[in-house]
Amino acid sequence: MRDFSQNHSALALNTASLGHNLEGYGAGWSPEQVIDACAARGYGGIVFWRREIGARAQEIGDRVRAAGLQVAGLCRTPFLTGPLVPGDDAAIMDDFRASIDMAAALGTRVLTIVTGGIEPNTKGPIESQKTLADRIARAVDYAAQREVSLALEPLNPVYGGDRTCVMTTQDALNVCDMVGSDRLGIAVDVYHVWWDTTLPDALAKAKGRILGYHLCDWLAETNDMLLDRGMMGDGVADLRAIRGWVEDAGYTGLCEVEIFSADNWWQRDPEDVLDIIVDRFRTVC
Ligand code: ZN
Repeated sequence: MRDFSQNHSALALNTASLGHNLEGYGAGWSPEQVIDACAARGYGGIVFWRREIGARAQEIGDRVRAAGLQVAGLCRTPFLTGPLVPGDDAAIMDDFRASIDMAAALGTRVLTIVTGGIEPNTKGPIESQKTLADRIARAVDYAAQREVSLALEPLNPVYGGDRTCVMTTQDALNVCDMVGSDRLGIAVDVYHVWWDTTLPDALAKAKGRILGYHLCDWLAETNDMLLDRGMMGDGVADLRAIRGWVEDAGYTGLCEVEIFSADNWWQRDPEDVLDIIVDRFRTVC
């Protein structure tokens, strides 16, 4: 397992940790401010959200690399199934391709898929997973041509209605098998998988298929299932054990800190948040 205690070059900031994933939240820093603040602290990469990038993907990607960092990923595809999709099948696929185009223009290798929930007029996750696999299969060549890989992120079952139809790492791997492309892998987010006692078995089958590793913590007394994630070390997830399994599966990439926290971390000075992330990354992750 990698030793981060003296070196945090494997640390990436997901700008959701500054509230940038949702309109109306967070410090409202420009991408340039985020890049400079991360570079000054020796972060290795940044993951942006589409709403921050707009039409400036190439420019922002170049700015990140000029500062000595990587664009570690882009969040995210539209919802591909369930009640929150952006429209009919054609509209979903158009927006899916637009997210791939943005990732390519940013110069990142990884676009995260958050699947969306259960399809209308169906029950349970299986039918929705089939629809999901079909839509991914129809976009994966487009992604490959642009040198973008798709990271399917299973979400905690608390989202298993409107936001996800893939709730375990094993299910994510099953969907990958249904699609059967080396451009499709998984993202492992501790917030979503920390509870799963079958996680080591699933990750043992994920060799070479992990495209992202996301850090935060699950607070024992969480007060909001979406916007009350904890800082690493403040909760009950076994962060070291999970990283061990992820690295045993061959993952050597950046570790991305992604803390949705409307009432706590998003209320603080981002300079302090970025400092504390570095400290926690070195000491508890
Ligand atoms: Zn995540």
